[in-house]
Amino acid sequence: MTGITLLGSTGSIGVSTLDVVARHGERFHIVALTANRDAEGMAAQCRRHRPEYAVMADPTAARELGRRLSDMSRSPEVLAGTEALAFVAALPQVDCVMAAIVGAAGLLPTLAAARAGKRLLLANKEALVVAGSLLMQAVVDNGARILPIDSEHNAVFQCLPRGFSDGRGIESLGVERILLTASGGPFRDTPLEGLAKVTPEEACAHPNWDMGRKISVDSATMMNKGLELIEACWLFGTHPGRVRILVHPQSVIHSLVQYRDGSVLAQLGNPDMRTPIAHALAWPERMDSGVDALDLLAIRKLDFHPAEPGRFPCLDLAYGAAAQGGTCPIILNAANEVAVDAFLNRRIGFMDIPTVVGETLQQLPREGVEGWEVEQLLEADRQARRVAEQNLTGCVA
Ligand code: NAD
Ligand code: MG
Repeated sequence: MTGITLLGSTGSIGVSTLDVVARHGERFHIVALTANRDAEGMAAQCRRHRPEYAVMADPTAARELGRRLSDMSRSPEVLAGTEALAFVAALPQVDCVMAAIVGAAGLLPTLAAARAGKRLLLANKEALVVAGSLLMQAVVDNGARILPIDSEHNAVFQCLPRGFSDGRGIESLGVERILLTASGGPFRDTPLEGLAKVTPEEACAHPNWDMGRKISVDSATMMNKGLELIEACWLFGTHPGRVRILVHPQSVIHSLVQYRDGSVLAQLGNPDMRTPIAHALAWPERMDSGVDALDLLAIRKLDFHPAEPGRFPCLDLAYGAAAQGGTCPIILNAANEVAVDAFLNRRIGFMDIPTVVGETLQQLPREGVEGWEVEQLLEADRQARRVAEQNLTGCVA
């Protein structure tokens, strides 16, 4: 039996992971589930999946969870706080950790899993954006293994030769370029002058994928693709010049790898995260995910376009931060988390998101991060959040 800790079990990736795991009860055992505040959702998951531990990051929610589970026989041990997230990620009976917390909040438990040498199923792209060097080094030093869950990176991983291992540059494998596909989100064809007025509900209504609210807004601004560019550079040991972005509205080709000899390999499938999740859980084997077979005759046509820079300024900001490195990706991510949260709470407009991120990047100096410990990286993240908060005041929703 493979023991699993699922960080962020009540979210979109968390729920899809539990769906796949439940199809293979003979193979997987849930050791720990974790969430932020949703005690009701967590209580239902505990009754269904019977973990040994249930962690709520929020202590009040942990007390509520304890009350909700008081009548359960052999109820899980309920823990609270961020240290408890790292604790359940590193337990000896855990083989595999799904990192599916949203945002930089997922960094510490994700790093704990890498330091404990676990098989790390990485959905939490923000952890790599904030601490790529530290996280990749922890993986190599401790014999951990990253299996990408982000559909694009999982596709690239599937298109790389079996000999690929974490920390090894893909150029040595004959790779010329990585082509990351992007749907273009819900506003791909919206007239530019209408973008300032779009609502959180419209931004969260993604045409192809059903995801959490933060990543849905990131997909609408295409900051998601910018974060994925940085994620790809760390995962595959390459630089932004070798990564291209291709708008592909159908979301059928999840990404491609172009080799030196002219070959281009792609991974295709219906847009359902259970495919990359099942791939990573079973790797190097394959198992059923519950996803329907792809029907290319029904789809008939696959389209590709370049990304329009005027429509997606966040993408340019991310390319700039990726090229500069140092603290710039940390600032980009922190300012984006603050701006997206403010947009979702109707404090700022949709097109204020790139403004706040751009201003915050301009106001803070770039610092090199070589040799930095995680606490220094998190201090840079906190500082960028403070500056981004101030920049919100200039915007009116
Ligand atoms: P979500 O908002 O649906 O779920 C987030 C989960 O994290 C929830 O369980 C929540 O309780 C927990 N959480 C939130 N804040 C926390 C905190 N401060 N401390 C502890 N736990 C916290 O998000 P999601 O869509 O499932 O995305 C999760 C991650 O996976 C993100 O990094 C996202 O970019 C990535 N991802 C998601 C998808 C997708 O299809 N949803 C695809 C690719 C990558
Ligand atoms: Mg993705």
